[in-house]
This record gives sequence, C-alpha cells and structure tokens, in this order.
Amino acid sequence: MTVTPSVSSAKGRVLIVGATGLIGQFVTESSLDAGRSTYVLVRPSACGPSKAKIIKAFQDKGAIILHGQVNDKEFMEKIMREHEIDIVISAVGGENILDQLTLIEAIKTIGTIKRFLPSEFGHDVDRADPVEPGLSMYEAKRRVRRLVEESGVPYTYICCNSIASWPYHDNTHPSEVLPPLDQFQIYGDGSVKAYFVAGTDIGKFTMKTVDDIRTVNKSVHFRPTSNLCNINELASLWEKKIGRTLPRVIITENDLLAAAAENCIPQSIVASFTHDIFIKGCQINFTIDGPQDIEVSTLYPDETFQTLDDCFNDFLAKLGDKPVNTNKITTTNPVVESMAITA
Ligand code: NDP
Repeated sequence: MTVTPSVSSAKGRVLIVGATGLIGQFVTESSLDAGRSTYVLVRPSACGPSKAKIIKAFQDKGAIILHGQVNDKEFMEKIMREHEIDIVISAVGGENILDQLTLIEAIKTIGTIKRFLPSEFGHDVDRADPVEPGLSMYEAKRRVRRLVEESGVPYTYICCNSIASWPYHDNTHPSEVLPPLDQFQIYGDGSVKAYFVAGTDIGKFTMKTVDDIRTVNKSVHFRPTSNLCNINELASLWEKKIGRTLPRVIITENDLLAAAAENCIPQSIVASFTHDIFIKGCQINFTIDGPQDIEVSTLYPDETFQTLDDCFNDFLAKLGDKPVNTNKITTTNPVVESMAITA
C-alpha cells in the first residue's frame, strides 16, 4: 500500500508580509523556529525602535529582510521570482486588507506559488455576520477570498478565533495588555463561549498547514476544546491567579451596539466583533462539517495547545513584583506598548 505523505519532505521557501504586526510576529517566529527559509517583507516606512528591534531579532534568527510594499505588483513579482518563493503568508492589518488584491494578481502572474494564506486569522468571514463597522472589514476579507479562489492559486484560510487574552472590547491587540486588575466588564450574561488560542499556537499551527496537502483550499478552524471558555469563567480564572475577587460590571448588548455605532475606528470594529462573539456566539453557532472545513486538532492530534491556565500564568508573570492586593491599580495595565490596529 502506498502512503501519501501529508507534508512534503522539502520545506518550501516562505515569504511573510506583515511580519512586524501582532499576528505576523508569531507566524514569522514559528517559521524561523521550524528551520524554514523565511523572507520577510518590510515596508520602507517601518521605522522606530520597536519595529527595528523586531526586524533585528528576525535577522538574528536567519530571516532575509526585503524592503517594499505588498501593493507594488511588479516588485512583488520580482522578489517572488528572484527568491523562488513557494509559500506566501499575509498578515497585513485590518486597514490594509485590500492591499492584498495586488499581491494576488502578482502571485497569479508568476504562477509558481504553491500556497497562499491571506490575512484572516480570526473568524470564518463567510459565516460570521457582525454589525458595522466590523462588517465592512469582513466584506474586504470576503473580497480577497473570492479573488484568491478565482485566481486558482492554492490557498488556506486560518480561522483561529480569539487570541488568548482578556477580550477588551476597545483594544485591537488585547494580548498585549494584562487582564483587568480593578473590575471585569462582562458582556451580556457572560455565558457565551469562545475559543482562545495563544499567539504562539496561532503561529505554530499556521506553519504546520502551509505545505500540508490536506489543507489545500480549506478553511482551517482552531477549536481546541480545552480553550473553550466564557467570560465568567475567564474572570474566575484570573481571580484565582491574582488571589482576589474583582467587581463585575455588565456591558449589555445595547452598550456594545452603541460602541460599534460610534464608528470610532478601530475601537468600534472591536466592539462589533465583541458583540458577535459574546452576544451572538459567532464562534460556536455553526458546525464545521462542510467540504471546505477542517479542524486543526484533527489534523495534528498529537500536538497540544497552550492552555488558558498557562496563558494566564504568563500574564501573572508579567505582573512581576507589582502589588496586586491593592485598589490603586488602574484599568489599563499595558504589558508592552499597545498598538491601535484592527483585530
Ligand atoms: P498589525 O496591524 O499588527 O500589523 C500589520 C502588518 O502588516 C505590519 O507589519 C505592517 O507593516 C504590514 N503591512 C500593512 N500594509 C502593508 C503593505 N502595503 N505592504 C507591506 N506590509 C504591510 O496586524 P494584526 O496582526 O493586528 O492583524 C493581522 C491579521 O490578524 C488581520 O487579518 C486581523 O484581522 C487579524 N487579527 C486577529 C486577532 C485575533 O484575536 N484572532 C487579533 C488581531 C488581529 P508596518 O510595520 O510597516 O506597519
């Protein structure tokens, strides 16, 4: 009997766009850790000490840095040809989703790319139906999907659900902020569940899919059962970690809809997603049994996910020596500089 390997033996060369962003960093680190030839596209405008530090760390691990813009078709064709790129992963942020249309045209023109992963890294945008302004972002992601499908380029959509963190309704990068230390804001009755996946696992499992033939033209859903949790449970978990209880304030469905309707970008986009997740249950109100769907744990049953307990231990460690048994701690507890970018 012939056994078809699910993963090709030769690791393809990877080009990552958006590597300096929140999700892009996890994917890039994972690609480098897996020993892949990793090319990173950096915008010429990407400067400042924090970006320079990220880029230097990538270089130290062997990444090859290329300077340019994803929406420059000729340039993209040139670098993909010159460096014999096999796999292109995009993790551009919410405001740049449509920049990928040019990238797809370039990929189609050169005709040698074996897999393209567009910037998804959240919900299944063909199923989720948030209110505005989140809906407009999903419409942009849907447009990218349709162009990818028409182009005939093999693709994989990563539907990884929520990044493990306290799900602030006004912060696009909640994993860069500590969970609350003064009070919890509970959405609705706090009983609607969601999947929380550690950023490192988003990177790790994304990289596993890129040359796995089972994921060609599929949506890969991240639904680790150990990390299915509602916000009441999340609050209790954090209380256990910090060793004290915090007051709970209810944020109603109408509060979230009002925050979305303010149309203050990007916070209102996060409010519309928060409404979709914790009021409407958009991560759990459908089954993933369509021909295009595949669940990541069924693909890699021997690989474990970091648990929410571990993730919250990491947040606790970041608290360091700060006293937690005090009422003087303010609502925002930045771990690192938090950037206002669409989730
Ligand atoms: P960020 O905004 O943090 O980073 C975007 C990256 O894309 C940056 O590196 C930026 O470069 C780069 N970029 C943007 N435009 C271009 C361009 N024209 N040419 C080259 N590079 C470009 O993105 P996020 O990590 O927040 O978002 C990535 C994806 O993940 C999105 O689809 C988003 O919806 C999703 N997401 C999911 C979350 C979840 O909880 N599941 C949480 C957050 C995001 P530069 O450094 O120059 O700005």
